[in-house]
Amino acid sequence: MKKHGFEEMNLKAVLFDMDGVLFDSMPNHALAWSEGMKKYGLPMTKEEAYMHEGRTGAGTINILAQRTWGRDATEEEKQQIYAWKTEVFNKCPQAGPMPGAAELLNQIKADGLQIVLVTGSGQKSLLDRLNTHFPGIFTSDKMVTAFDVKYGKPNPEPYLMGLQKAGVKPNEAIVVENAPLGVQAGVAANIFTVAVNTGPLPDSVLLCEGANLLCHSMNELSEKWNNLLKSFRSCE
Ligand code: MG
Repeated sequence: MKKHGFEEMNLKAVLFDMDGVLFDSMPNHALAWSEGMKKYGLPMTKEEAYMHEGRTGAGTINILAQRTWGRDATEEEKQQIYAWKTEVFNKCPQAGPMPGAAELLNQIKADGLQIVLVTGSGQKSLLDRLNTHFPGIFTSDKMVTAFDVKYGKPNPEPYLMGLQKAGVKPNEAIVVENAPLGVQAGVAANIFTVAVNTGPLPDSVLLCEGANLLCHSMNELSEKWNNLLKSFRSCE
């Protein structure tokens, strides 16, 4: 609380990232990036894909273009290259829900807190998929996606929009994130940020971005949830 300059914490909403938090989809994304970019002569390792997670596709492509070609990618290139990455991604077997995610979401709902999705993803069937795996949890008015934002993570914009959608202040919410840039965005929005390290990066990468708490799986966070909520409520 001191770190965030809060006098008190009054938890009303939990803002969830999606890839690598609710769905075990990051291995597919990392593969699609590293394989897909080969066609355009833009080398990218899987680990690097994890480092860029959360950034918009266009933003990531531009970084690769600057590095390899020494110039910005044109809008046409960004669209074409991202479309190919999406095609490679769509060939991967569909990723399942992250173990422990459904349990955690149901607990949070039962605790009477709002649940908001804040994702950089722009998949069209996103809500249908969420409803299939997490029925009764997500609604379209409590979602921030790639279609809503101008800057995207690591800018605080998506999480600030998430607060707005929930009608709450930074000291009334927490963020659950798996990616370094996502943690950076949550922290920049001045929200208590829980990092769940579900990927191959070292914990220190997430902690260095300012994560307030770190778990190694959604199962772990789900198991710790009751105690965590008690701690927050003791700060009210
Ligand atoms: Mg993520």
